[in-house]
Amino acid sequence: MAEKNQTPPARLAVDLSGQVAIVTGASQGIGRAVAETLAANGAKVAAVARNAEKLASLVEAVQAAGGEAQAFPCDVADADAVTSTVDAIVEAFGKVDILVNNAGITRDTLLPRMGDDEWDAVISTNLRGPFLFMRAASRPMMQQRYGRIVNVASVSGMIGNPGQSNYSASKAGLIGLTRTVAKELAGRKITVNAVAPGFIASEMTEALGPALLDEVKKRVPAKRLGEAWEIADAVLFLASPSASYLTAQVMVVDGGLIG
Ligand code: NAP
Repeated sequence: MAEKNQTPPARLAVDLSGQVAIVTGASQGIGRAVAETLAANGAKVAAVARNAEKLASLVEAVQAAGGEAQAFPCDVADADAVTSTVDAIVEAFGKVDILVNNAGITRDTLLPRMGDDEWDAVISTNLRGPFLFMRAASRPMMQQRYGRIVNVASVSGMIGNPGQSNYSASKAGLIGLTRTVAKELAGRKITVNAVAPGFIASEMTEALGPALLDEVKKRVPAKRLGEAWEIADAVLFLASPSASYLTAQVMVVDGGLIG
């Protein structure tokens, strides 16, 4: 159901050569597009997700396109695993310049039926994961006095969405976390921003089913779902050296949905 109605035009191009980027949730969807985009612009990409096979396929694609990437299988909600993964990335690449916290899940259901497990799984992956990665990756960034952190939030965390109390809370929390960490790290030349996508064609939205997606398309002023590369280019800009005075912000990329 992923839409292919938007042929990517001339894509944004920046020079990330010599930079090291961690991308979580890089095994598919938006995260894979972000990883491929950062690599295409010269970054060495440390690709994080749980599914090692899918990560291997991404690494192969990046290398086939002439880029550099390495897989680091890891559950972002596991504190010990995150610490050792960031250590392994620094060991492999020598530093971290860019962190994109993109890994995320949904477990949608209305509040009265929301189980503890559904609440905990979403908060752990979508909010604890970015906290753990920012805590670990900010250390090498502070030492080198440079860094770009981009957190993938959601419009659901800004306006709410029935059936997503866990997800909306995790993304609203991520926005608060973004703004606070931005203020803590600004003096070290580290910027921290969020991108808040609307509805983007991916396995996550495919799960909504064709009838609901048709309704969504009618509600979106752009009359279509967004595509992963449209989020990846927003991330690329925020991750670039030129976005140096832009921090503690949320860039909404939603075809006009909440504008
Ligand atoms: P997706 O296709 O379901 O991909 C999710 C990614 O997150 C996968 O690579 C998955 O890899 C990874 N992931 C999930 N749990 C993980 C964990 N515990 N540890 C490590 N990696 C984990 O979703 P998507 O649509 O690309 O969404 C990417 C991000 O954009 C999410 O944060 C999502 O909330 C946000 N977003 C999406 C939309 C949309 O319309 N698609 C809208 C707003 C915001 P493994 O399963 O291999 O671990």
